[in-house]
Amino acid sequence: MNVEKQSGGLTRRDFIAVSSMALAGAAVLKPGRAIGGAGVEEADGVFLLPDLPYAYDGLEPYVDTMTMRIHHDKHHAGYTAKLNAAIESAPELKEKSIEAILADLATYPEPVQTAVRDNGGGYYNHLLFWQVMKPGGSVGPSEGLASAINDAFGDMNSFRDAFNGAAKTRFGSGWAWLVARADGTLAVGSTPNQDNPLMSGISDLKGVPILGLDVWEHAYYLHYQNRRADYIDAWWNVVNWEKVSESYAALTQ
Ligand code: MN
Repeated sequence: MNVEKQSGGLTRRDFIAVSSMALAGAAVLKPGRAIGGAGVEEADGVFLLPDLPYAYDGLEPYVDTMTMRIHHDKHHAGYTAKLNAAIESAPELKEKSIEAILADLATYPEPVQTAVRDNGGGYYNHLLFWQVMKPGGSVGPSEGLASAINDAFGDMNSFRDAFNGAAKTRFGSGWAWLVARADGTLAVGSTPNQDNPLMSGISDLKGVPILGLDVWEHAYYLHYQNRRADYIDAWWNVVNWEKVSESYAALTQ
């Protein structure tokens, strides 16, 4: 896949097509385009909520059916609706992709900034989250990604320890991330609430997220109650390493 040079005067559709390749971590793209099984659709300046790329019970027994149903149909749907409401009140955002909206977040006046931070973050983060999981999981990262993981963390187990540490020690609600930079380097970290590493000037963690884990209580409490660590350990069984590896390859080629 060749990444086109970005230039001024792009239409929303053009920008989205370019940014979907440049920022392959999540998904967003041009209307009708399917990436990782979950098309992110956008029509007339409105962001749409794609279906899950698998059945609600597809991630059992690690992530339970009721959690998936509520998480997607209520929580993700809520972020989507509120993002669209915020954009409705800030027409200058209407021509932007979700990645560009988040990257420029620090420049928006209140109350738009907070509304987009919470709900644009929630919209993007969950799009990525659904895609980096799959029924049955997968064997592991591609050769290229495995090599970068070894360079950054020493080996796969040390990477998992670092990622698990970020997820387990995030106080309150938030996300753990594996991010990639254009030079191929990797880092792990976490962000509070619905923040993510694309939010320039807001997130301390820099890079494009290629793997994310939701550690909000709504992501695990029905099945795991207070046992966040058990949820995190079980979640590795459903990680979609093919998708994560594709995102890494698209970002670094
Ligand atoms: Mn969530």
